[in-house]
Amino acid sequence: MGKRMARVQGPLVAIAAIVAGSCRVSSQPDKSDWAQQRRAMVQEQLRGRDIRHEAVLKAMGKVPRHQFVPEAERALAYADQPLPIGHQQTISQPYIVAYMTQVVDPRPEQRVLEVGTGSGYQAAVLAEIVKEVYTIELLPELAKQAEKRLKKLSYRNIKVKASDGYLGWPDAGPFDSIVVTCGAEHVPEPLVKQLKPGGKMVIPVGKTLNTQWLRLITKGKDGQPTSRDLLPVRFVPLRRQSDLKKP
Ligand code: SAH
Repeated sequence: MGKRMARVQGPLVAIAAIVAGSCRVSSQPDKSDWAQQRRAMVQEQLRGRDIRHEAVLKAMGKVPRHQFVPEAERALAYADQPLPIGHQQTISQPYIVAYMTQVVDPRPEQRVLEVGTGSGYQAAVLAEIVKEVYTIELLPELAKQAEKRLKKLSYRNIKVKASDGYLGWPDAGPFDSIVVTCGAEHVPEPLVKQLKPGGKMVIPVGKTLNTQWLRLITKGKDGQPTSRDLLPVRFVPLRRQSDLKKP
């Protein structure tokens, strides 16, 4: 348990996870009732905190999160915590996924870029709300798995690419919003460029894991970005293609 808690994003949320996550899961009598677990997750972890965006709440109530986690982690799929997805990567805590989606205020007609596909869960939540989702994953194996999973779940409005998301997806941009789900040391300039005027980007930024903050960048109609730090978080690092070759 101690090991899991260390991966929870954000100290405030970490405390809540100890109370809500562990108690509820251990007293859950019927683990196969995923829909019921999902409703409880939306009610307790999202509405019970500060998630108010109706489209986000609806999407979180619909996407089968248990299908995005490894078999061994399924019992905890709807718990208030991140979970390992292999390759030393994690699927974020449900609250963090909802929070990041809420702050970019997604709308049905929009096209959104995600950097850090991981399991594909955040992409699926976005795809329930917007017209098209483009998602980039650095690790080819994870990209392949996510693509297969999303296809099986009939998400036809998500395009997955295995490459370095630092560079964005220039051919598909500019985007109405960008959601980065790995922690960067600085905000990648190519991503700011690929944001439409009036668009929003949410990204964890920090030199170290202990000083990471979720930052919201809003591009003004004049093209000038402004930014605001929202919440302390802990995300796995954004790596570059060149980092993969290191031992
Ligand atoms: N959004 C995911 C969880 C993301 S974990 C989900 O819903 O499951 C962060 C992911 O970012 C990891 O899979 C990691 O491999 C990936 N990543 C790290 N650096 C990256 C980069 N430069 N470009 C794209 N993906 C990257």
